[in-house]
Amino acid sequence: MLVLYNSLSRKKEAFRPIKKKLVGLYTCGPTVYQYAHLGNLRAYIFSDTVKRVLLLNGFRVKHIMNITDVGHLESDADTGEDKVEREAKRQQRSAWDIARFYEDAFKRDLQRLHILPPARYARATEHIKEQVALIGKLEQKGVTYRTSDGIYFDTAKFPTYGAFTQVDLRGIKPGIRIAQKEKRNPSDFALWKFSPKDKKRQMEWPSPWGKGFPGWHIECSAMSMTYLGEHFDIHTGGIDHISVHHTNEIAQSEAATGKPLANYWLHANFLQVGKTRMGKSEGNFRTLDELVGDGFDPLDFRYVALSAHYRSPLVFSRDALLAARRARLGLISRIQRIPASTSTRSNPSSEDFTSGDFKKAFLAALNNDLSTPRALPVLRRFVASAKARTKTWSGDLAWFDRALGLNLTLVLSSPPAAVRRLAAGRERLRAEKQWKEADALRIKIKEKGWRVEDTADGPHLMPEESV
Ligand code: AMP
Ligand code: ZN
Repeated sequence: MLVLYNSLSRKKEAFRPIKKKLVGLYTCGPTVYQYAHLGNLRAYIFSDTVKRVLLLNGFRVKHIMNITDVGHLESDADTGEDKVEREAKRQQRSAWDIARFYEDAFKRDLQRLHILPPARYARATEHIKEQVALIGKLEQKGVTYRTSDGIYFDTAKFPTYGAFTQVDLRGIKPGIRIAQKEKRNPSDFALWKFSPKDKKRQMEWPSPWGKGFPGWHIECSAMSMTYLGEHFDIHTGGIDHISVHHTNEIAQSEAATGKPLANYWLHANFLQVGKTRMGKSEGNFRTLDELVGDGFDPLDFRYVALSAHYRSPLVFSRDALLAARRARLGLISRIQRIPASTSTRSNPSSEDFTSGDFKKAFLAALNNDLSTPRALPVLRRFVASAKARTKTWSGDLAWFDRALGLNLTLVLSSPPAAVRRLAAGRERLRAEKQWKEADALRIKIKEKGWRVEDTADGPHLMPEESV
């Protein structure tokens, strides 16, 4: 039985899908005005784990992720500039260019981290009609009002507003801008913002209320309902989403439909640098490109992320990366050293029994609120105890890896003789300290689709990933 911690009830709950086999999963995606940082990427490794564990349990998953390419303002209180338009000005490119450029970079990051792509990426700019329709529905219900800068949701008209966070909303300080003074309640939020009169926006659309653009929260309600229906299974995001973004999503969706939007709300904790969350405004962030530039494999970061439980803060450091790299390569070299066996049923009684035990323990760990830190050692023991690589064993390894996404089965393919000869030649040159010549051979090996990883046990040949 799969158990998940639900931020709605603040308890672990047994997962019961709405439909029998098909799970609707929505993940709040990135705002595409900059490269994603490793903190953002931790949140997506988490949603990938949710999805992989659902698949491991035999569910099919319809996964939707939004791309915020408009409407996310500098402040969560609906003030400040649109982040995409601000960056466009800074780089003297169009807002559309900026959004597409960082969306592509984001997708490349996910690919390198072996995060399974969603069934659909939904761009906010391509769902204006749906957002306008939803705001219209809220207007009909009488829960909106107009100020000089937009259409706002009146949170006082939604009695359970804030139940999610259990914060005292009277404690929220009203914004200081003039427009904010027109808010009826400090927690009210923009559904539609009017284009400023004195400045030309690049991204703007006509609407029944005037020319403008959607507020940040409305996109997720409109797009999740479009693709998953008014009531679906699981909604994920980072913990910073709980107090504003998800609270607002719940209020506006449920005010419009009278139904709960999602049954389970799951949130990943922060990646930290020391005691501070990694963040763009904190100025302490690292990107995946930087990490690769430092000689790490993106999967080293994936391994770091899986080593901690998603609900615990995770402190990022070079030492953590080095330890993950050691553990990951250790696992790979161990797998490569297991002698292959052609038998399909070598010693079935003892081997299959232990294999089954490992699988049971692994699934139990993941089904207990996605405990990847407990699942990883089970995988390590499974690999350590193998005497021969039978077909069954390799199949089991693939099963473990489908949940973790560490690309472990790739190492089972053995390099062709020509690649092995090049690698041996490279070793000889390295022993003679002919670094330049050795490096030329490394490039030749790479051209043949293989990669040399130098480990404490000597060099290991791995296929270049085919992502
Ligand atoms: P954004 O692009 O700012 O909308 O953020 C994208 C995702 O990254 C959201 O789910 C955030 O909750 C998440 N996030 C931002 N900073 C961190 C962090 N330091 N650790 C983990 N997740 C984060
Ligand atoms: Zn969202």
